[in-house]
Amino acid sequence: MARQLVIGNWKMHGSVGQVRTVLPELVRAELGSNIAICVAYPYLALAKSLLSESAIQLGAQDVCEFHIGAYTGEVSPAMLADVGCELVIVGHSERRRYFNETSEMAARKVKAALDGGLLPVYCVGETQAQRDAGIARDVIAEELQVLAGVPTSLYAVAYEPSWAVGTGVIATPEQIAEMHAFIKQTLDTRTRVLYGGSVKADNAAQVLATDGVDGVLVGGAALSAAEFLKICSQAR
Ligand code: PGA
Repeated sequence: MARQLVIGNWKMHGSVGQVRTVLPELVRAELGSNIAICVAYPYLALAKSLLSESAIQLGAQDVCEFHIGAYTGEVSPAMLADVGCELVIVGHSERRRYFNETSEMAARKVKAALDGGLLPVYCVGETQAQRDAGIARDVIAEELQVLAGVPTSLYAVAYEPSWAVGTGVIATPEQIAEMHAFIKQTLDTRTRVLYGGSVKADNAAQVLATDGVDGVLVGGAALSAAEFLKICSQAR
């Protein structure tokens, strides 16, 4: 069985100094290729050079759906691959919420990332209001529908209920197991499904021991080497 993935998502945090401090600590811990770190665009090349002696993978937090051309401000899949990225987060709830990204846009980005040789990590998840209304599964099904026809072996899904992202309120093991099973039933039982949302050093063991969890996507807790290393050490 493939090892569980642990992906750190720094979001719009960090600096040259922080990249230079945290990444060498991760390298010293001799983490394997099941660990990845996604820093903001300006730090990717620096991060790659710091990770050069390590198996840790490098990822970006978004990508353009187009491959080349006059798209001011955008970054193509080929550019990400060129600076050493192996994976990319697509359709994160923060992109959906603050930048009006739709599932259709995210699906185009997934396909562009695949064309560019990257592993897309496609994020899905319901809001608290949608869960309260009993439509969480419908929301997820709709978010997954846009990837119909894309072989599930080529991407990973991150189940990130937006009420758990950055809130300190983690989904319960039952909620996680239920939704991961639903996602695998909907796509393919072999689909890699990660959980994201308030994963910390003190709850990672429980999440990673939950049925159907193939890894975790870690936000805030990935900014500290000590905390991230504790999470990584729980991956099976
Ligand atoms: P969080 O973020 O761990 O800070 O809740 C997770 C994510 O957004 O990927």
